[in-house]
Amino acid sequence: MTTLPKIKVLATGGTIAGSSASSTEMTGYQAGTLGVDLLLSAVPGIQKIVDISGEQISEIDSCNMTEEIWFKLANKLNALLADDEITGVVITHGTDTMEETAYFLNLVLNSSKPVVLVGAMRPATAISADGPLNLLNAVKIAIHPDSIGQGVLVTMNDEIHSARDVTKTNTFMVNTFKATELGILGYIINGEVKYYRATTRKHTTNVDLPLEHITELPQVEIIYAHANQNRILIDAAVESGAKGIIYAGMGNGSIHCNAEAALIDAAKQGVIVVRSSRAGNGVVVTTNPFWDENNFVKSDTLNPQKARILLALALTQTNKPEEIQKMFSEY
Ligand code: ASP
Repeated sequence: MTTLPKIKVLATGGTIAGSSASSTEMTGYQAGTLGVDLLLSAVPGIQKIVDISGEQISEIDSCNMTEEIWFKLANKLNALLADDEITGVVITHGTDTMEETAYFLNLVLNSSKPVVLVGAMRPATAISADGPLNLLNAVKIAIHPDSIGQGVLVTMNDEIHSARDVTKTNTFMVNTFKATELGILGYIINGEVKYYRATTRKHTTNVDLPLEHITELPQVEIIYAHANQNRILIDAAVESGAKGIIYAGMGNGSIHCNAEAALIDAAKQGVIVVRSSRAGNGVVVTTNPFWDENNFVKSDTLNPQKARILLALALTQTNKPEEIQKMFSEY
């Protein structure tokens, strides 16, 4: 008898586990109400291809994701992935913060085995729910040998994405996940997993951001740039104890002059300031050397929410801007 690959499904909630009284209700439903066994039972034939079991980690709408759940997931995953019998792990997750959980795990897991996050845009009770096929695809990706060493992956809508590059781009469409400029890694077509590229950025086993002995992350706030900005929120962030600030700048990480004065004051007090961008695409580079002279770090292509995660993890190791800049250039 051939043994089937062993896959663990860790369920956290989200629309994939969402339910509504009406099958035509696509937006007004309760996320995270259905248990993992029910999700697996909606996927026809799954037991024939994998030895699969589920575990409920949380039952939340992912807009309420917490770092406690991230730590729980990361510790659980590192233990599971160290087990020789486990081929890979699938995580069911709400789409709102899926990219953040995926990138966090991409930086802290120390295994090259496949870890695949999957969600849905339509609740499980909806006509044409996208969850069951997405989940089947996730399992197929998790058992595919080409997925080994690709870092943490996200799948939705027949696409395979790298945790680092993918972002949610649409409030309700099933094709909401995109790696707008850097591109998808591959497809699942008619059940077949096909890769076309790999990320060149370091992840999982090549990242040195150990979680051992850490129970919480340093406070890092995101400040969104806009016309007519004042310094109130930046000063409030510093006063409340922030160790880092991500400035979601305009264009190429440009800073409003009122915000600039406050950020320079923050940096003088030892707060690490990272220039990211609200533009959604492109690399943040040096445009005004004065910002580099004030030790502002550039986010490379990381969007503000992912830059926040890297900075928080980086601050567990160092508060030297040049060391943190190196991480932003490599991870
Ligand atoms: N609000 C939901 C969540 O993130 C949306 C979804 O899963 O699609 O949990």
